Amino acid sequence: MRYSAGLINTVREVPSEAEVISHQLMLRAGMIKKLAAGVYSFLPLGYRVIRKIEEIIRKEMDQAGAQEVFLPVLCPAELWQDSGRWSVYGPELMRCKDRHNREFCLGPTHEEVITDLVRREVKSYRQLPLNLYQIQTKFRDEIRPRFGLMRGREFIMKDAYSFDCDEAGADVSYQRMKETYQNIFRKCGLKFTMVEADTGAIGGNFSHEFMVLADSGEDLVVSCQKCSYGSNIERAECLPSKEKALPDAPLKPVEAVLTPKYTAVDEVADFLKVKKDEGVKTLIMKADEQEVVVLMRGDHELNEVKLKNLLNAVDIVMADEATIETITGGSVGFSGPVGLERVKIVADYSVQNLFNFVTGANKKDTHLVNVNWGRDCPVPQFADLRLVTETDRCPRCQDKLTITRGIEVGHIFKLGTKYSKALKAEYLDQKGDEKTIIMGCYGIGVGRTMAASIEQNHDKDGIIWPMPIAPYQVLVLPTDVTDKNIKDTAHDVYKQLLACGIETIIDDRDERPGVKFKDADLLGFPLRITIGSRSLKQGVIEIRIRKTGENLQVPKDDYKNRVIKLIQELQPQE
Ligand SMILES: [Zn+2]
Repeated sequence: MRYSAGLINTVREVPSEAEVISHQLMLRAGMIKKLAAGVYSFLPLGYRVIRKIEEIIRKEMDQAGAQEVFLPVLCPAELWQDSGRWSVYGPELMRCKDRHNREFCLGPTHEEVITDLVRREVKSYRQLPLNLYQIQTKFRDEIRPRFGLMRGREFIMKDAYSFDCDEAGADVSYQRMKETYQNIFRKCGLKFTMVEADTGAIGGNFSHEFMVLADSGEDLVVSCQKCSYGSNIERAECLPSKEKALPDAPLKPVEAVLTPKYTAVDEVADFLKVKKDEGVKTLIMKADEQEVVVLMRGDHELNEVKLKNLLNAVDIVMADEATIETITGGSVGFSGPVGLERVKIVADYSVQNLFNFVTGANKKDTHLVNVNWGRDCPVPQFADLRLVTETDRCPRCQDKLTITRGIEVGHIFKLGTKYSKALKAEYLDQKGDEKTIIMGCYGIGVGRTMAASIEQNHDKDGIIWPMPIAPYQVLVLPTDVTDKNIKDTAHDVYKQLLACGIETIIDDRDERPGVKFKDADLLGFPLRITIGSRSLKQGVIEIRIRKTGENLQVPKDDYKNRVIKLIQELQPQE
């Protein structure tokens, strides 16, 4: 590829619309272009990366015995009504109508469509197991699309669905996908981790997420330093706290204390000269319009996903000021469980063993000390409701936990019969009995993988593509194309590398060397070969490794072998 003939427009300034580094660098490198909020065009260099990721996915999926299909983007509403998701999915589902006023949606995921296909095509146990996948454009009407390819409204996904006769078979299919996903992300050249995850809107029995590790990641990942336990923080279990046993001191009488203007847990604790973990904080929430009071220890944070799952709620928000005042009869910031008889109260396990504790008094500028369960306030329903912290222990082996940041690029679910039951996807078993098919579903965000690889691999100068997904493996850079010797040598090197099957681009523009070096770093090709008058005089070829910044001077008659060897070395190792 000749640079001068390519559609490559780089920019120096950081675009103001881009908050995250992958978005900034992709725009600056001219790899994507925004068409509308959350909707992007891929330009030639960017699309080469997408296609490379797709090819790695295809190869691994095919090898795992999956078969590629291509399903419609336009999905009839009836199928979604049958599965019950037409109403549950909410405003993120991109809905439309045809000229006959029939309702459709643009598929955000294809469980319904594929289950419909399989219930029509599969009749007998002999046709199972089956794993079908596609690489397709998906739609989600995000309320606030942002972070470029990370949270778009239109995006490329690989989605796969497995169909098995029984639970054991479905477990085998799930396990195979788990291994296949690990191969895919490793072969893309990415550092990643696999964690247990919440099943969310997709539903099902259990699931795992694949996280590309990056400091800028949106998700927090909890992992054990000793065993293989890993979890999204949304799901990470907390061991019940053992710090305090039941009362070993006498229960003291409740007292109201004036705490003027102090509402924050730290301030109140300081003022009352108690520790933060001796206080109970009270959150008034709304779970699908139902009010619920949530009690947490002063030093802990609520995990909203755990609360959602406990209450089987779709949506959880903080109650507004008026609601809080109606429920507690007091003002915001001084809520507590005492006297709340008519509302559902749930509490985290960590407050179960507290006694003589501090809470709000449901009265302005007032807190209560020496509050005790049962005697002073209703005994709530106790559950695991808090976010895990680094001081917590591994729920499997009790060793230390670490919390790191990651970007979710893949998610696999063991669905069970959620969709096959709703849509009646059945088969005849050996005895001729009708049985429900057991399903799994498996997704990879292709554009997201591209963005995450940049979040993980970049420096102040630009992108550092992992070799397997780089748009080109080698850039040949003649420093001065008006010098015939330099120009001819560069073109010769370019042609020789192409003849070896190496993906090569030559920067044949009549630009200053500084401009070309800057663009080369920004675009992030793994190897750069510089042809200039000095190296020509010395009879050497200069190879620069983008990832390490290393410059190698290689004898002119040996450069091809060195380039081939470097490309191999920069591939992910088994
Ligand atoms: Zn562990």
